Amino acid sequence: MTAPADLVIAHGTVANADGRRRAHVVVDGGRITALLDAAEPVPPARQVIDAAGLLVIPGGVDGHCHVAQTTGPYTTLDDYALTSTAALWGGTTTIMDFGIPRDASETPLQAARHKLELARQARCDVALHASVIDWDETVPAQLQELADLGIRSVKLYMTNRGTTMADNDTVLQVMRQMAALDGLTWIHAEHDAIIADCTAEHAGRGQTGIEHLHLTRPELAEEASVREVLAMAEYTGAPVYFVHQSTPGAVDLVTEARVNGLAAYSETCPHYVALDDTVYSGPVPEWFACCPPMRSAETAAALRERLLGGAVHAVASDHSCYDLTQKRLHTEDIRQMPHGLPGVETRLPVAFTEMVGPDLAGIERLVEVFAAGPARINALPGKGAVAEGCDADLVILDPAEERTVDGAGLHMGTDFSPFHGRSLRGWPQMVVAGGRVVLDDGGFHDPGPAGRFLEQAGFGEALAWPGQGGSRQAAGAATGQDGE
Ligand SMILES: [Zn+2]
Repeated sequence: MTAPADLVIAHGTVANADGRRRAHVVVDGGRITALLDAAEPVPPARQVIDAAGLLVIPGGVDGHCHVAQTTGPYTTLDDYALTSTAALWGGTTTIMDFGIPRDASETPLQAARHKLELARQARCDVALHASVIDWDETVPAQLQELADLGIRSVKLYMTNRGTTMADNDTVLQVMRQMAALDGLTWIHAEHDAIIADCTAEHAGRGQTGIEHLHLTRPELAEEASVREVLAMAEYTGAPVYFVHQSTPGAVDLVTEARVNGLAAYSETCPHYVALDDTVYSGPVPEWFACCPPMRSAETAAALRERLLGGAVHAVASDHSCYDLTQKRLHTEDIRQMPHGLPGVETRLPVAFTEMVGPDLAGIERLVEVFAAGPARINALPGKGAVAEGCDADLVILDPAEERTVDGAGLHMGTDFSPFHGRSLRGWPQMVVAGGRVVLDDGGFHDPGPAGRFLEQAGFGEALAWPGQGGSRQAAGAATGQDGE
């Protein structure tokens, strides 16, 4: 007779990116050991959770979080213990942060090592992206060493002159190097010269306040930068991933590139789909200080169409935890404000509310952009699916339950939420991370610093995992067809 399993989640509707079924999820030793048809008897276990009538989805993978990040004069307010705790409250069981050099004296490798040290306090699993600001002859060896550490993606900023911006020479060289390392280049695409000029022009008219933010960073600036980067990706043959795309035009450029055989991917964020630029004429425009800014309602609606239609590969939070004291220091001058929104905890409910309709229509797409896509594109084995052999990272929720966001009552290291007051569905009732129940109706059960650092596999290698299309080329072609 076999020993009882650690945990069985019985009778739930298990939704993955490729379909849903009623099943018992058997968990043992931190992994999912079986998925049994719900008509079968519930196998013996030390703990059985009855999920009848509830939805069971894979724990989220948030590929884009900034933890304890210093940019210029500002540092975000949450550390790894706080960010990862808030992530778990929101159904995200893996976060990815960035080793971004804090100033010119810090190398990419030093920045990543600093984050590796901080990440030892994480309550959920963590992976890292590196970041390069200036190219020099030491960078190739650093990128190799980072890859050996399991850090195989590098973020580059096309804007933020004077802090994190990389010039085009650097972008080109890093792309070439990352392609050779079977890694992925991440891009923040906004055309710096257009933004600088547009911001200066508005400043000349006295329009520097937060209520003008969206006017200083036009959609054209984002799309011009995407075009430029795609040309460099084509030239170097490097896979490329665009963070926080905020316009349908930007997403369409990436779709078109993919149809033409490039390995190019789109990420968007909950706020670009759920909010629009009328927030800047509202009572608290400083809640929405981020770059790119919120776009017109028409643009947000068209972006949502792209998301629902399959042209977007990941919904990430771009979590940046400033508080209102920091946000309000310079509301009269957007050039001096800290930009970025807290969101690691609200990513699931906002995306769920936007994407999942009656009778769970759209749930597979939600799981794809919330967990499966980010796990695959970032080459994180064992993540993003409720399947035998995967890590036991699970979210159980009642798809009909609505809650109103209370910005001050969330668990991030800040005092507001851009979604305050909104009624959302998709809140986790129970969260299992690495086989441990960390959230249930008794509240949060702090597992301590149980989060592991996850090494990224190779980018092309991950696309060849079973069910992923067989090869980079095939996967590129397959994803090219599902877009607009
Ligand atoms: Zn970011």
